[in-house]
Amino acid sequence: MMRRAIRLLLLLWLPLSALGASDDAVPERVPYATTRSADGFDMPVGKPDAAGHYRSRGLIVGRHMGDDWNGNGMGNSDLGAPVYSTAHGLVVFARNARMGWGNTVIIRHVYWKGMKWNYVDSFYTHMHQVFVREGQQVRRGQLVGSIGTNFGMYTAHLHFEIRKNLRIGINQGSYRKDLSNYHRPYDFILGHRTVSGGNRPVKVPKDTFRLQSRTVNEMRPGRIPDNNKAPKRKGDFKVNRFGEPLR
Ligand SMILES: [Zn+2]
Repeated sequence: MMRRAIRLLLLLWLPLSALGASDDAVPERVPYATTRSADGFDMPVGKPDAAGHYRSRGLIVGRHMGDDWNGNGMGNSDLGAPVYSTAHGLVVFARNARMGWGNTVIIRHVYWKGMKWNYVDSFYTHMHQVFVREGQQVRRGQLVGSIGTNFGMYTAHLHFEIRKNLRIGINQGSYRKDLSNYHRPYDFILGHRTVSGGNRPVKVPKDTFRLQSRTVNEMRPGRIPDNNKAPKRKGDFKVNRFGEPLR
């Protein structure tokens, strides 16, 4: 009886949350796709627990909004090492984002927590190779790319983020670098190693961010009002503006 009630609740919640009932920065008036809800989150290297890798850098509010993962072998010994999807989801970006990023994949995830569907984007960049394409469904632990140097700009490492705000995409300079827009990736994964409500078909918003890293937001008619937008600055897409060390 209880189980039936929970199932009914889940079914009722699905369309509600898909329409933006969640307060986690889900835009309104955007098209939706379907994906598989996450059953848990794994580390993006050395799956599932980052075996053979270490975090050389974590999230620093205002400066570095993700984790840097390196192989234990130091230097470029991890060049080409596999990078895995942290959870089930939908690939919403897979291309060369240029500038300080290079080959980049963004995967959109839905997970059940606090009696509602929640959305996050995982972000993998500086990669040597990319093995997924936009619109592809991926499973937790699926190969998405390999660790790279962003075409020789850095010592090989994976820069990895988990965003609450689905509008960021590759336009990091337009959004506040704080915990209203980003999760601390390592802590987030540790707190969501397994989640209930996984492996269900669920709706996710798509086309929530610009694919070009230019500040043209104001040119789009009927765009979504955004309270988390950072004050506009000149030249907000500079190499190293996110504080990557040039080792
Ligand atoms: Zn980084």
